[in-house]
Amino acid sequence: MNPRMLVTARESRGLSQKELAEMAGVPSGTLSKAENGLTDLTEDRLVAIARVLDYPRHMLDWPDPIYTPQSSGFYHRKQQSLPQKALNKAHASVNLLRIRLSRLSEGVTITPRFPMPALASDDDDQTPESIAQRVRHIWALPSGPVDNMIAVLEAAGAFVVRRDLGSPRISAISLRISGDRPLFVLNEGMPPDRERFSLAHELGHLVMHEFLPPQGEREADRFASEFLMPSDDIRPHLYGLDLRLAARLKPYWKTSMASIIRKANTLEVITPTRYKSLIVQMAQRGMNKVEPVDLPREEPTVIDAIVDVHRRSHGYTEQQLAHLSGLLEDEYRVEFATPTLGGLRVVR
Ligand SMILES: [Zn+2]
Repeated sequence: MNPRMLVTARESRGLSQKELAEMAGVPSGTLSKAENGLTDLTEDRLVAIARVLDYPRHMLDWPDPIYTPQSSGFYHRKQQSLPQKALNKAHASVNLLRIRLSRLSEGVTITPRFPMPALASDDDDQTPESIAQRVRHIWALPSGPVDNMIAVLEAAGAFVVRRDLGSPRISAISLRISGDRPLFVLNEGMPPDRERFSLAHELGHLVMHEFLPPQGEREADRFASEFLMPSDDIRPHLYGLDLRLAARLKPYWKTSMASIIRKANTLEVITPTRYKSLIVQMAQRGMNKVEPVDLPREEPTVIDAIVDVHRRSHGYTEQQLAHLSGLLEDEYRVEFATPTLGGLRVVR
């Protein structure tokens, strides 16, 4: 048993040490020592713990490293008010997801079309905007809107997944560990424009910040705004901006009305007074909570393709794939199975 894996498995289920000890019938002192690597647990107790946690027993032996938010390369887009316990649960889930994906992708070669660059934002001549431009250039993106943000990240070798991160106060978590594909985890339940902005924000961290500087969140937002709406391309669209025009621009740029209005303010195409007035108008109509104009949702494809290679070319059963990914079969099916109906993929 790997003590760090035991802690991570427990936290991923949102259980305290005391709760798990009680549910599994293990003295809490014994569990505490086991989690700190000071004592071993009998096989009976490990089986009981795995049963409570709904994981296969062997998963507690995984030797893989666990990364903390203090490690370099671990970022999240969240509200300040998120309780620590919820944050621990989300981080534990993302760690396990990273390990699962790296195990699942062993033996399957999918070569990225573009590199994932590392361009430090503390370089003298660089701004988040100029770095966003360089990434667009390296990835050969045409001018104008980014057609499909998830496809762009997957082409650069990243995994993108949508998962329940346990609290609506988290938008996304990203992880860049050397030797692994970068991982972007989107929280469920966000509108597509917010998903795209969150992904672009996380991309900003991955590209610019080996360690997060104090102004890092602001820099990631500036990067995202420029990546999705290059200033030179969008400026001519913003003259005379009102809510009606913002609603018309939204499906073209695939960004929220709010971010289009902020962009017009940043570029000084509208006056600060006009900007404030538009924000107030949005709030009066409840658009600061739910915006009008729905965008199509983007879907990841790389993980499905990897699972498909295992099933079709390597002859893996669902049971074997569940084992490989350290999940019981039911959960594996929810997380990774892609049922097909008449050749059409069913989108959950
Ligand atoms: Zn951030």
